[in-house]
Amino acid sequence: MSNAEAVVIVGAGPIGLACAISAVRRGIDPVVLDAGSIAESIARYPVGMTFFTTPDRLEIGNHPLVCSGAKATREEALMYYRGVARVERLRVRPFHRLVSGRRVGQGFELEFDRVLRGDRVSVRADRVVLATGYFGHPNRLDVPGEDLPHVSHYPEEPHRLAGLDVVIVGAKNSAIELALAAFRAGARVTVVHRREALKPSVKYWLRPDFENRVKAGEISVRWETVVRSIEPGLVRVEGPGGPAALGADRVFLLTGYHPDYELFRGLGVEIDPSTGRPTHDPATLETNVPGLHVAGSPTAGRFISEVFIENGRFDGEKIFGDATSRSRAASAGADRPVGE
Ligand SMILES: Cc1cc2nc3c(=O)[nH]c(=O)nc-3n(C[C@H](O)[C@H](O)[C@H](O)COP(=O)(O)OP(=O)(O)OC[C@H]3O[C@@H](n4cnc5c(N)ncnc54)[C@H](O)[C@@H]3O)c2cc1C
Repeated sequence: MSNAEAVVIVGAGPIGLACAISAVRRGIDPVVLDAGSIAESIARYPVGMTFFTTPDRLEIGNHPLVCSGAKATREEALMYYRGVARVERLRVRPFHRLVSGRRVGQGFELEFDRVLRGDRVSVRADRVVLATGYFGHPNRLDVPGEDLPHVSHYPEEPHRLAGLDVVIVGAKNSAIELALAAFRAGARVTVVHRREALKPSVKYWLRPDFENRVKAGEISVRWETVVRSIEPGLVRVEGPGGPAALGADRVFLLTGYHPDYELFRGLGVEIDPSTGRPTHDPATLETNVPGLHVAGSPTAGRFISEVFIENGRFDGEKIFGDATSRSRAASAGADRPVGE
């Protein structure tokens, strides 16, 4: 591995930054490009949100994350990841979205939209790491009205929901957390869930709070109910009691997210149709396209909840550590498929 190797890391989230630090500590000076700001996904969390994970498990590059409470807030995490990028002198290029790439010789030519300027630039790389997370790609319900202005696939600051009828579709942690926060901010909340109960993965401190609010009639729940359509002011659902129309000033479809399969396939990465996992070597995270790695939650395909910050933050060690050197040496001279 030489200092002249041009490494491009796509995504300046916690995992992309951690990968960049792993590279820097091996004498590589990568460029990190992000479609948004540093830690764009966290910047899109609701204002004031608190992480589930303890601060020590959100740390990257052994930099301490100091926060005022037991858990870090969105704001503390943003300050932290920004600060780490600064002290590590990472070359971060915000607001550069990777749109396509192709093989040129043994390397890559990548096309990035400069979203604040409305133009496009090409970037050459010997090695590429896709640390693009999943937050940009919500799992859509594909129902009429899903793109109306009062509908969102992302949680919202609870204050903005005060006095409103709010329908939340989904019952994972972020849906339950938003339901509780919106209720406390003064919203009238209905949760719609296609299953008959909460999943066991709902956090132990959210579950009793939510169940008690439901028992007290403070939050409504429609179990075993699916959304048929959304219109201004209402959501049409169907459940055990037949069809119903729920009043809704705001609708939150919190039904999960998935990696950007289209981007990956466009780069020549094979995706397993049953799991959504990109083909990759688990030891080096190198995909079927030599020199192209994945990091963080996209390695888990559609099982995004298998990889969080706390277990994805060491992926850079796999990519830039000794295992990669061994694998690259073993595959030297092998035919390289060409990604479009
Ligand atoms: C409400 C909420 C609470 C959460 N709480 C926790 C928690 O307590 N603990 C925990 O570990 N995890 C938590 N998570 C999950 C956590 O946010 C993710 O695991 C984490 O952000 C993954 O980091 P990442 O770097 O892989 O991806 P991301 O943080 O999503 O970073 C990916 C980056 O890639 C960029 N990108 C995407 N596509 C492109 C492209 N084409 N070109 C250029 N850049 C691109 C994005 O802009 C983004 O900045 C939570 C998530 C949510 C939604």
